[in-house]
Amino acid sequence: MTQRSRTQRLPPRRIGILGGTFDPIHRGHVELGLAAQSALGLAQVFVVPTHIPPHRPQPVASSYHRFAMVALTVAGRTGWQATDVELGHDTPSYTSLTLRRFHERGFAPFELFFLIGADAFIEIGTWKDYPDILDQAHFAVVSRPGCPVTHLPRRLPDLAARMTPVLDPDVHGTCVIFLIEAPTADVSSTAIRSRLADGQPITGLVEPDVQQHIEQHELYTAMVPGRREDDRSADAAAGRLHGQS
Ligand code: ATP
Ligand code: MG
Repeated sequence: MTQRSRTQRLPPRRIGILGGTFDPIHRGHVELGLAAQSALGLAQVFVVPTHIPPHRPQPVASSYHRFAMVALTVAGRTGWQATDVELGHDTPSYTSLTLRRFHERGFAPFELFFLIGADAFIEIGTWKDYPDILDQAHFAVVSRPGCPVTHLPRRLPDLAARMTPVLDPDVHGTCVIFLIEAPTADVSSTAIRSRLADGQPITGLVEPDVQQHIEQHELYTAMVPGRREDDRSADAAAGRLHGQS
């Protein structure tokens, strides 16, 4: 069925896409997704771990472990799915490319809601394919502790006219920027990694299964970023022991 014939016959679907490095996924991410799901009536939330983030230092945990933790987090949540769309491509994971892949799967731009925290949305002007990317999906911007959405029209004056609170997500024929003020946990992946590196507990900050996964695989304790240089020389020494040059 072509996209045109589908949209003529059926009401639009409402699909959330929650992208992130998820190094690791935590309570704040889940609360962001739930807030957007209930405000916008999303039938599905696809959680998309970034493989190679273009705009930040590379993740500490591998894409495999980050995907596993996302899968453990969405398990049992109705309509939520861990999506590996970015993992098969060894090029920077640009969101515009990911959205194009959703279009190729038959989703119209106005059926997609890209979910994002206010701190990340402030950087949107630096993203690949800006400003065209704003026509590839609705953007649903959720507040983050210390980063309310009420500040966004002033912080991004060029986009203020496209911003709207959620009234009726169906009335918009074109892609808009929804602003959602919601209480989410004051937690970050950076804080979790640093707690683990310091041997502090992370109970309640991530799903229990994710905590167990982190502990079982010694993520973020054996691989803290500050040890990377040491690790590299240790790896080189190990390679020499195994006869590599
Ligand atoms: P890091 O500290 O490594 O940057 P993070 O906690 O910011 O990790 P990301 O993977 O960078 O998590 O974020 C993915 C998305 O989730 C971004 O859009 C970000 O704004 C949003 N987000 C992360 N934590 C929260 C939170 N506590 N409340 C609301 N949004 C959040
Ligand atoms: Mg972040």
